[in-house]
Amino acid sequence: MAATARLISRLTLVTGGGSGIGRAVCQRLASEGASVVVADISEESANETMKSLINNLRGQQHTAAVVDVSSKQSVKQLVTSIQTRYFQPPSVCVTAAGITQDDFLLNMDEEKFDRVIQVNLKGSFLVTQAVAQALVACGAPKGSIITVGSILGKVGNIGQVNYTASKGGVESLTRTAAKELSRFGIRCNCVLPGFISTPMTDQVPEKVINKVLPLVPLGRMGEAAEVADVCAFLASDDSGYITGASIEVTGGLFMG
Ligand code: NAP
Repeated sequence: MAATARLISRLTLVTGGGSGIGRAVCQRLASEGASVVVADISEESANETMKSLINNLRGQQHTAAVVDVSSKQSVKQLVTSIQTRYFQPPSVCVTAAGITQDDFLLNMDEEKFDRVIQVNLKGSFLVTQAVAQALVACGAPKGSIITVGSILGKVGNIGQVNYTASKGGVESLTRTAAKELSRFGIRCNCVLPGFISTPMTDQVPEKVINKVLPLVPLGRMGEAAEVADVCAFLASDDSGYITGASIEVTGGLFMG
């Protein structure tokens, strides 16, 4: 739980906010004073997250919204509706929406490959672009965009050729965005989670988890809240001189 209120008056957009890491990020940022737009493809889960948020800090107003991050029109509509409601674009954005559709390279069909790239990589691009365009257009003095990659985007993983390619792309997209947007005061950083307990990893067979866990120096899976801690730091001015960075939240798994 946050010990500070670093994000008072910061309007924040979190995609994938209805579950797992995205939900924990919404909770953590709200606990530091942010007003949070919880955006997810599922209205029900976005609403559930919204109901769980602290809302008694100065000026806080949270919203739940439906978005499909793989659709340019849906993302545009979301950012426009935020500006209509709050009279400003979000100055903090965390792109946590993501999916897996696993198969071995030799069997991976084109639809599964395309869908994972569309949601994870193109979705991160569309959201980053729409938020950055809105911030630049209104002359906002600063912004912090945080993408969610994966340590597996660096090292690869059997059965996840689509997912690992998408996450490697997210990391390099973030670096390019950081280079282009720094002159507008917008910082862009990527968090690289390792194995974190969420509904996504609930699908991983127990025998796979049992093989991975001994490789984690800290000896356990991570909690979504531990990824959220890092996002809160990157969202706040405490990370004011950090941009284009990738921060591993892995318990030491696959350290360099
Ligand atoms: P999660 O619990 O499945 O949460 C992902 C959320 O994104 C879900 O609410 C999901 O909705 C939503 N979503 C899916 N497609 C979407 C779309 N097209 N538009 C908007 N929202 C969409 O997974 P998680 O573990 O928290 O993962 C969050 C992010 O962290 C993902 O990018 C994931 O790749 C990354 N990550 C996770 C781990 C891990 O160990 N958990 C490790 C590395 C990276 P539905 O549930 O309705 O599909």
